[in-house]
Amino acid sequence: MLSYDVTEWGRPLQKALRDTPTPTGTEVLVRVRYCGICHSDVHIRDGYFDMGGGKKFHMTERGMNVPRIMGHEPFGTVVSAGPEAGEVPVGKDVLVYPWTGCGKCARCAEGMDNWCMQPQYLGIQRNGGYADHLIVPHPRYLIDASGIEPTYAPILACSGLTTYSAVRKLAPSTPRDWVLVLGAGGLGLMAIGMLRALGHENIAVADVDARKFDAAREMGASVTVDPSDPEAVKTLGALEGGVVGAVDLVGLTQTAQLGQAVLRKGGRYVLVGLYGGEITVSLVALAQRAMAIQGSYVGSLPELREVVELARSGKLKAIPVETVPLEQVSEVLDQLKAGTVIGRRVARID
Ligand SMILES: [Zn+2]
Ligand SMILES: [Zn+2]
Repeated sequence: MLSYDVTEWGRPLQKALRDTPTPTGTEVLVRVRYCGICHSDVHIRDGYFDMGGGKKFHMTERGMNVPRIMGHEPFGTVVSAGPEAGEVPVGKDVLVYPWTGCGKCARCAEGMDNWCMQPQYLGIQRNGGYADHLIVPHPRYLIDASGIEPTYAPILACSGLTTYSAVRKLAPSTPRDWVLVLGAGGLGLMAIGMLRALGHENIAVADVDARKFDAAREMGASVTVDPSDPEAVKTLGALEGGVVGAVDLVGLTQTAQLGQAVLRKGGRYVLVGLYGGEITVSLVALAQRAMAIQGSYVGSLPELREVVELARSGKLKAIPVETVPLEQVSEVLDQLKAGTVIGRRVARID
């Protein structure tokens, strides 16, 4: 099988050829056809996340070792399965839930693998989809995505699921309540699309790059601000009824500060982005403003099924997706690092 591997942290991925694995136990072998190229792979390839205050969280501490095949947005065709896998849809196209856990704990049993304390994520602790074949640990992670464009389905597993799970965490709100989306990159556009699909009408978006505003408006945002503009807080604060929730897809100190500064009483700031930074929160203000600060990391297996349903219903507006041949994956990661990508790139494995 062909793959592009992380062999050295921070270095371009290396092409590798090895024997195609044979599934054992409950495993399923999938012939990968498309795999989304995600911004978090930039950090994973570098080997660490910036935790703020000069602290780094290394991938080796998360149980990831090199060589490793990244790629956690795989879509492909079921080829075969191990003797304990039960009935599997051989020959069918499936979306693969990548945030797999240990498979033994209570969280995994309820499909909350993403909260498992011993994560075995595809493309991080286990090999992922920047390859023509992929081993999935159990058939329960295979999701029927029929009726959804195969180039679009992969992004539902990560950016789709991540943004869905995040916007579902917003404080109880009505469709007319204002929600602020921080960041208008791939995740930001997806978050706007999710909010619209769930019925939200009033969405504001903040990004330092005004070139991204057209795409954000196209997805359904009606107010755009530059967070570095000193008037941004005032503009957002003046929105009718105030801002009920902010979803931060960037995760810098500045975006976190803006997201919290503009919330009305009882509002909720949901953090997804992993750029890295830190904030100081006034405890008095936190209590008096009845504010909530919530982290959100990917999403659960049932949530991914809901996302697929939402996409299938036609309510979810597709974001721009461009396919590239698998051999370009490393270059695309460089472009993502430089912040020059609008929409999403999906690797095509012919
Ligand atoms: Zn991702
Ligand atoms: Zn578990």
